[in-house]
Amino acid sequence: MSDALHYAHGGATLKRCPVCDDDHVHIGDVRVFQPRDNYSSQVVRVGAAIEIVGLEKTACRGVGVEIEYWCENGEHRWVEGQAHHKGETRTGWQQHSG
Ligand SMILES: [Zn+2]
Repeated sequence: MSDALHYAHGGATLKRCPVCDDDHVHIGDVRVFQPRDNYSSQVVRVGAAIEIVGLEKTACRGVGVEIEYWCENGEHRWVEGQAHHKGETRTGWQQHSG
């Protein structure tokens, strides 16, 4: 784990649920998007195992990362993502549908 994530020294922010503000948040699957052509990416999912999902259509043409989260207070689920394309990196989140 990198120094940037070494929370024991107070350098990281405590994650909170965007629905209920609970601070008991867990990380689920991580999906990494590597562009192959216009709006198509090779997807790797890291959860209990590492899985190459295959090609998927994507909303952008750059590199992207999505992280699933859930909280202990009602098990709210959401996905946060970052996507890079042409020098810009955008972040966003949405509630998980499943
Ligand atoms: Zn919550």
